[in-house]
Amino acid sequence: MCIHPNIIRYNDGMAPLPTPSGSSTAETGDDPRHKTPAEWLATPVQYLKGVGPQRGELLAKLDLHYAQDVLFYFPRDYEDLSDLRAIADLEEDKPLAIRGVVEEVDLRETGPGRSILGVLMRQGNDHLRAVWFNMPYLQQQFRAGQQLLLFGKARLRGFRWEMPHPRVQHLDQDEETPQGLLPVYPLTESLNQQQLRRIARHVLETCLDGVDEVFPQAFLAAHNLAPIHEAISAVHFPASRAALDRARIRLVYQELLVLQLALALRRQAIAQHGAAPELPATTKIDVRIRRRFPFELTPGQNQAIAEISADMARPVPMNRLLQGEVGSGKTVVALYATLLAVAHRCQAAIMAPTEVLARQHADVLGKFLEASQVRTVLLSGGQSASQRKAALAAISAGEVDVVIGTQAIVESGAEFAKLGLVVIDEQHKFGVRQRASLKQAGQNPHYLVMTATPIPRTVAMTLFGDLEVSTLRDTPPGRQQVHTYLPSEAERPKWWEFFRKKLREGRQGFVVVPLLEESANWQAANLNETFERLAHGELADFRLGLLHGRLNSTEKEAAMADFRSGRTQVLICTSVVEVGIDIPNATVMTIDGAERFGLAQLHQLRGRISRGSHPGYCCLLAETQSEETQQRLKALVDSTDGFELSEIDFKLRGPGEMVGTRQHGLPPLRIADLQRDAAAVELARQDAQRLVAEDPGLSCPENARLRRMVLAKYGKALELGDVG
Ligand code: ADP
Ligand code: MG
Repeated sequence: MCIHPNIIRYNDGMAPLPTPSGSSTAETGDDPRHKTPAEWLATPVQYLKGVGPQRGELLAKLDLHYAQDVLFYFPRDYEDLSDLRAIADLEEDKPLAIRGVVEEVDLRETGPGRSILGVLMRQGNDHLRAVWFNMPYLQQQFRAGQQLLLFGKARLRGFRWEMPHPRVQHLDQDEETPQGLLPVYPLTESLNQQQLRRIARHVLETCLDGVDEVFPQAFLAAHNLAPIHEAISAVHFPASRAALDRARIRLVYQELLVLQLALALRRQAIAQHGAAPELPATTKIDVRIRRRFPFELTPGQNQAIAEISADMARPVPMNRLLQGEVGSGKTVVALYATLLAVAHRCQAAIMAPTEVLARQHADVLGKFLEASQVRTVLLSGGQSASQRKAALAAISAGEVDVVIGTQAIVESGAEFAKLGLVVIDEQHKFGVRQRASLKQAGQNPHYLVMTATPIPRTVAMTLFGDLEVSTLRDTPPGRQQVHTYLPSEAERPKWWEFFRKKLREGRQGFVVVPLLEESANWQAANLNETFERLAHGELADFRLGLLHGRLNSTEKEAAMADFRSGRTQVLICTSVVEVGIDIPNATVMTIDGAERFGLAQLHQLRGRISRGSHPGYCCLLAETQSEETQQRLKALVDSTDGFELSEIDFKLRGPGEMVGTRQHGLPPLRIADLQRDAAAVELARQDAQRLVAEDPGLSCPENARLRRMVLAKYGKALELGDVG
């Protein structure tokens, strides 16, 4: 049973800050007996009972430096002692606990480097053997006569009970069997559960009273939240599952509230922070910009443009997220904003996550801007030093209006003469931190970030919680849906037949190969193999091109140019095509190893073939036929709604990789889980917005503690230093 499926690590933020008065006595190791609980909180762990310098260093590896850190180091799981069994009542394959006396310890070598350690346990007249494979060093921990509590799954071997690799708790001879749930902490080498449990128990006894309650009594009552002392105590050593749930609810809420407050404060800070240029879209400007587009804008695009124009007309920096399905026309909206800035003689910077995409933006912009006086420059990693130097000089002299590039724009330290707007495409690849650092690229430019990966609502509220949001729900007219297939092994030749037919009709296609390994060399080898296989097999009569991350920028550019011009008919590529690539004539796609991709990513990929007026056809080839894979991929066959798919993916795959706050530049959440605690995210967000509206800057004395917590955890990541 796993109560907290995610590993919870803790290092800052939720705990009160160390009190200086306490730490001074602690550092010098003065007589500890007269410390108050508050002073205990700030005691370095090595001075705690049963720790010492050596173990102190181990604890430091877990980011546990002060006693208070231990309080907020939450278990990742629990051992449920409520199911304490007599050996006679054991059931197979159910996690349960048994208590007994060690009767015999034996270690048998079963081969080179292989061994079985057996610990025979007696309980009355019954026996059970605990066994460990290939862990001979554990032998020292056991002696005949010891009282042990074992926790694990038992199984019957013939007529004898065996429990492989149980967790073990040593008990004193007449110690009562512990009750309730025992915490299971994330560990580091040479530190065991039992030691950490002892330390945690000790810290709870000495320090808990020193923890301040952040919420007023009335607030706790109104929200039906456990007081902090009860919550911390119960999250470590819950008396029951109900007590654990109640504790968890409190701590989850607090963690999410602190996060949402940080985001709300950041929003406020940005709004108050210095002036941005006022860039209104006058009728004249509006007409001039629209004339550049060869089509009518969709109602969704017009709506988004109205929202953006309203923001940019104000002397406050815009901070807006534009989200929409692949192909919904976000780029055009961004170009409108860009031209609006340029019309006011401001510069604009457009940042894309990859060079391929940056170059594409440059091409698209170039087409729309034909015969105009707008000057653009591309800044990318692949440029020579002299090219870059010239570009940077032009940027700082104000000789270019629009700078298009990758991260290179930030990394090159470009200094803009007058930066009015920053557009970031595919925001989820950048994260909050990079966004913050870009801010410094100019003096309070307006800010527009775009994402084509619809993300679950709770995740959006967390990762982009500091942004206003515009959503494009419609797609440009005439856009075709993508048909998606999940063929059986036997149906595959039919698919390839269809693929060839489309190519013969003049369409183009992609074959996407997953990135199986980090190594770029290996990637290239994998791709080359697919290439050869297809070139001599299914696609023997067609012109094939290759695109992957191992190519340098000239090669990438050449591969894209060949494909765009039709010189190559099929592009065999890794998921580099995932973002943004726009080739309307490409209408068929085979995705190899589809089970290795997330649904959102697959949806993005197939978005590449619904760009023109021809319908798109996407085929998912899975290497495994497992039920779970089929179910996940079937969702893609059934739905073309990216928002719906992202929710399904989130549910099926769990929060793990797609929502790690860490990779987005935020400190990790320690107890909250954006999926499991979705309702709490919403609640915390509403409460945070209300609190900040009532008390901007959280400067009222009753909010002082909350404010300190927010700053301690997020002040740096979200640049909240000067709030209030
Ligand atoms: P996104 O960035 O949202 O994936 P794009 O902005 O690249 O989508 O638009 C996809 C394609 O649709 C482009 O070829 C673009 O020129 C075209 N397009 C955008 N808006 C419209 C519109 N209102 N009418 C017709 N075509 C449009
Ligand atoms: Mg795009």
